[in-house]
Amino acid sequence: MPSSLLKRAFCSLTCQLSKSAISCKGHAGMICCCLCVNATLHNSASIPVHLLTDRAVSISNTSLEDFIKHTDESIRALVQRVNQRHEALQARMISQQAFDDCLQVLGWNWTPSNIILNERFRFKIASMVMYGWAHIYVRDGLADNELGQAMKTYFSNRSLTSFRKLGEYVATFTFPKRSPNLAHLFTASANANSSRKGSFSCTGSEFLTLTPVVHRYFTRVVASRGEFMPVVSSMIAVLNAVMLLMSVRSGTIKPQELCSAIAAHLLLYKAYYGDAAFRPKHRYSLHLPGMLLRFGFLLAAFTHERKHRLVTRYTRDRKNLRNWDAGAIEEITCHQMWELKQPFFLACATARPRGKILYPLREMFPGVDDDAFVVVNDMCVNGGRVCAGDVVSCLVDGQAQLGELLLNIAVQMPASYTVYSVIALWQSDPNESTADIWRKFRVSKENVVKLESNTSIDTVFTYRMAVDQQTCVVYFPPEILPKRV
Ligand SMILES: [Zn+2]
Repeated sequence: MPSSLLKRAFCSLTCQLSKSAISCKGHAGMICCCLCVNATLHNSASIPVHLLTDRAVSISNTSLEDFIKHTDESIRALVQRVNQRHEALQARMISQQAFDDCLQVLGWNWTPSNIILNERFRFKIASMVMYGWAHIYVRDGLADNELGQAMKTYFSNRSLTSFRKLGEYVATFTFPKRSPNLAHLFTASANANSSRKGSFSCTGSEFLTLTPVVHRYFTRVVASRGEFMPVVSSMIAVLNAVMLLMSVRSGTIKPQELCSAIAAHLLLYKAYYGDAAFRPKHRYSLHLPGMLLRFGFLLAAFTHERKHRLVTRYTRDRKNLRNWDAGAIEEITCHQMWELKQPFFLACATARPRGKILYPLREMFPGVDDDAFVVVNDMCVNGGRVCAGDVVSCLVDGQAQLGELLLNIAVQMPASYTVYSVIALWQSDPNESTADIWRKFRVSKENVVKLESNTSIDTVFTYRMAVDQQTCVVYFPPEILPKRV
C-alpha cells in the first residue's frame, strides 16, 4: 500500500473510532442519532419516515423535548434486537435484504464483538457518549458549510459580498504567529471554486482561527448592506456558537448559555434554509449543552486526531514502507525525548541570541554573561502558542494588561533558568465598552515591562492594526469577557 494511502487509512480509522466502537450507523442510518430513539432523517430516498408515523420526529425539529432519549437500558435492548435479527438471518428465517433493512431502520450495525452487551465492560452508552463539537461545527460541519451556503446566495445574486472580498478583509487582520496560514484559502482559484460549489473547504483549525474575523465581517460589513438579513443572522448565530464552544475549555461557559446560542442558530437557520437543509449534525449540536452539563467539559477531538498532521509531518519524507510504522514511531519518540530534556516547561523552540539583540539584553540584565541568554519561543498559553511579535495579555502587579510581546528570554542562574517576558503595554480606550468582543487599544512602545516567570502571559490575540499604526482593535474571546481583562 502506498504510504499516502496508509496515512489516510490511519486518519479515517481514528475519526471513526468512537462510532465503530459502539457500532451505531450515525448519519448513515434512518435513525441517525445514537442518543435519540426517534430522530429520523428529514430527507430520504423514499418517503421520509416522519411523514408515515407520528412516532418518528424529523431532525429538523429544533426542540429537545419532542425527541425520546435513549437510556442505557434501551440501547442494550436495541443491540439485543439486532443480535436476534442476526440469529434469524443465520437460521434463514429472514433474507439478507430484510436484515439490512432492519439495521438501516434501527440505525445500528451488527458485529460479532459488540462491546455494549459485554458483561465485563458494563458500558452505559447513553450516559457516556460525548459528541465532538469540532466534528459537528467545522471540517465539513455546520459552520463552514453554512459559510459556503451563505456565500452562494450572495454570489448568485451578484452581491458585493463574496469570498474575494472576505479574503481581502481577512488579510487586514493579524493572527497569532503560530496559527495556521490562511492566505491559500482565498486565492483566485480557491474563491472561484468555493463560490461555484457553495462550500468552503479548510481544515478545522483554519476555520477556528478565521471564526472571529468572519463574525466581524458579517456583523459589521455584510449586515450594514442589509442584503439577505436572514442569511446574515443565521451566519452570525452559528459563529457565535463556535466562539462559545472554543471557550468551553476555559471552564467559563455555562451549559445554559451554550444551549441558547445553539438553539438560536437552529431557529434562524431553519427560517431561511428550511427543513430540507437540516443534516444529522444539526441534531447532534443540540446534545452538546446537556453533555457539557453532565461532564463539565467538552472534548473538541481526541488528541491523536489533533495530531494527525504531526504524524504526516514526521512521515512526509518516509517513502520506503519497510518498517514504516516502527521507523515513524522511533523518530517521534526520539524527538519527544529531546524536547523533554529542554529545561523550559511549556516551551518548544529555543535559540541563542546573536547580533544586535544582545545590546538591549546586556542593558536589561547587567552583569549577565552573553552565554547565559536563551531566546524562548512557542510558549503554550490560552489560545495557542505565543512568540515574539504576538499581542498578549499579561498580569502586571495583579492587573490584567494587554500589549505586544517583544521577547521571551531565559537567563541562566547558577542552578536553573529564569524566564522573563518583555512586553510593550498598550492603553485601552476608556470610552469603549468592556463587554464588546472587539476593543480598541492605543499602540505604544514606551511602556515596556519586564515580567519574571513564564506564566505571567495569559492569552494570545487576533487583532487588526490601523493604517497609521497608532491604534489597534483586538478580539476578546468569550472566556476573558469581561472578567479578566
Ligand atoms: Zn439525538
